[in-house]
Amino acid sequence: MAPLPPKRIIPISQPALGEEEWQALREPVLSGWVTQGPKVAEFERQFSKHHRVKHAIAVSSCTTGLHLALLAMGVGQGDEVIVPAFTWIATANVVLHCGATPVFVDIDRLTYNLSLAELVQKVTARTKVVVPVHLFGRCSDIAAIRALLPADVKILEDAACAVGASLRGIPAGSQGDAAAFSFHPRKVITTGEGGMVTTNNDELAEIMNQLRNHGATVSEEQRHIGPKPYILPDFNLPGYNYRMTDLQGAIGVVQLSKLEALIKERSKWANWYKQRLSCIEWLRCPEESIDGNDSWQAYVVYVYPDKSPMTRNDIMEILLGKGIATRPGTHAVHMTNFYRRKFNIRPEQFPNAMDCDGQTIAIPLHNNMSAQDYEYVVEQLKSI
Ligand SMILES: *Cc1c(COP(=O)(O)O)cnc(C)c1O
Repeated sequence: MAPLPPKRIIPISQPALGEEEWQALREPVLSGWVTQGPKVAEFERQFSKHHRVKHAIAVSSCTTGLHLALLAMGVGQGDEVIVPAFTWIATANVVLHCGATPVFVDIDRLTYNLSLAELVQKVTARTKVVVPVHLFGRCSDIAAIRALLPADVKILEDAACAVGASLRGIPAGSQGDAAAFSFHPRKVITTGEGGMVTTNNDELAEIMNQLRNHGATVSEEQRHIGPKPYILPDFNLPGYNYRMTDLQGAIGVVQLSKLEALIKERSKWANWYKQRLSCIEWLRCPEESIDGNDSWQAYVVYVYPDKSPMTRNDIMEILLGKGIATRPGTHAVHMTNFYRRKFNIRPEQFPNAMDCDGQTIAIPLHNNMSAQDYEYVVEQLKSI
């Protein structure tokens, strides 16, 4: 029997890590300072500078960052927090972890971000925070959202996908009352797990800073270099351990220095995909924002149910058989088991989220793909 031709395997995503990140680990490993310390502090300084925001506080994930931000904003029992119905499930889970109620709002099918027209209808006297998500690295319009909300309602940007993205020249994470970013390997830059909360508000920054470290008034590093290192700090709040390690901080500094180049390359291939895929009539490419810089965390296409030769899942199955990994865009959170049952929600209550849940496909776009890989993805999509 003739040997099978070598099969091309294109993962949905692959982190852009290399020799520099490997070398960056030497210092914390050899010094022995591996928990939150000088490398995390440097990462925070660089991150806040890059996103033009006063405070950046590194945490163990975007999820823990969102949790801290809601707690710092005083969210608790009886409060409502508005979240889009189409997002990663963590956006809604953290609201429940504060004892508050997530209120879903439908999305705009073209941008995949929350619909402003739907948002205004969901605001009540109990609304404490709105959490716009910059889904797949395209910024929600924070200024427009702010203009629609009563003055006492706070905005927490779920900027998990939006490291380095901007709208009208304003960086993601710099306009809301606070924002949370993710460094999970599916995002543009990674520290393994990891996240960053940002804010321009000194008071929120101080509370989040303490809450991530057991509620301690000073960090271990400050204590170590301070005048009386043997004195334990005092604790003002019942906090958590949501700290980032210095191993992650060291990698984060290197990753951040590459961010602009990584986004530039993604953006180039996003444009290329759009040109090459526009002739497929059953598929719609994502709209890039006209007045923004998207980070292209994921390239999510929409399959028209009435024009497609087969179902979305069948298309994904065929692509997998050709070695091309894909994923659904993300979840309609209100349709997942827990939320559907707990809040007794019907899928059709959020028709756009339901539709995107069933009809979107994230196709490979990351910084470890060759021109041949991209060409191969396009050829296989065209042959369907
Ligand atoms: C990835 C993601 C998260 C969670 O980030 P982690 O760092 O894995 O906790 C939250 N919200 C959105 C929109 C995401 O894409």
